[in-house]
Amino acid sequence: MAAQRNTGTEQTLTPTAGHSPRSSTYLFTKPSQGNCRTTVDVAGVKVGSKGLAIIAGPCSVESAGQIMRIAREVKAAGANLLRGGAFKPRTSPYNFQGLGEEGLKYLREAAEETGLGVVTEVLDPRHVELVARYADCLQIGSRNMQNYPLLREVGKSGRPVLLKRGLAATYDEFLLAAEYIMAEGNTNVILCERGIRGLTNELRFTLDLSAVPYLKERTHLPIIVDPSHGTGNARLVPAMSRAAVACGADGLIIEAHYSPADSVSDANQTISTDQLVTLIKELAQIAKAVGRKIQLPQIANSD
Ligand code: PEP
Ligand code: MN
Repeated sequence: MAAQRNTGTEQTLTPTAGHSPRSSTYLFTKPSQGNCRTTVDVAGVKVGSKGLAIIAGPCSVESAGQIMRIAREVKAAGANLLRGGAFKPRTSPYNFQGLGEEGLKYLREAAEETGLGVVTEVLDPRHVELVARYADCLQIGSRNMQNYPLLREVGKSGRPVLLKRGLAATYDEFLLAAEYIMAEGNTNVILCERGIRGLTNELRFTLDLSAVPYLKERTHLPIIVDPSHGTGNARLVPAMSRAAVACGADGLIIEAHYSPADSVSDANQTISTDQLVTLIKELAQIAKAVGRKIQLPQIANSD
């Protein structure tokens, strides 16, 4: 049966039991009876719990030294997971494509040194096993949200998956992509709103924050926000991060670098690790106001 449209007059958005068409179409993503939220454990960080996940790091892993320094700095700022692309989905085939396995090794070293878990993208079904050897969470990028063989493969891997919304995907398509992963037996799926193509030519994408409260009605899965790709503009990242926490996001994934202008990819949307320090302090206050928590790092005693 075709998925039912929400006409605005019927309560199709409330958790449903029994014979709603959604029960069979959205078998694994639909809200649970009692509306319990799922938490996904990524290297000890429980994404979807009261404590927010703050995933930060560069767009791309550039060198061993770069990712090690950024890992230390984002950790000191209060991030609890490290991001960084080793396999990069670039619009042009002539742009830097990432360091591949070498980049994964550097990420792992930075993870071991700092104790941060690693979130990194897998682009190709043939690389899932390789990336899963190094990563704590497999990222499915926006351009691959409907790459069904890839979704099935990360589903089989059992590793937590960060599933980014396709840049022109509807909410239904987004949830059905999560179903592909979960139908393979992997329930560790985190959704990520990262902006969609809109009418705003001035910005790279339009960050759809309505996705957060809306999808919380449609699914028990955690949902985080990417304000970096969502805006394409570093100056807007703090405001949209604050808004994301205020509207109930379970976490953020933020591009940060000690020298944003020198980033080999996505320099325009990358904030400095110094800015991240200030931002996470602000986010901690907003989190508290909406009943959530961000654990700020202990300031070392100066004597
Ligand atoms: C990324 O997070 O590195 C990335 C490429 O994001 P997206 O797939 O959302 O464009
Ligand atoms: Mn990027």
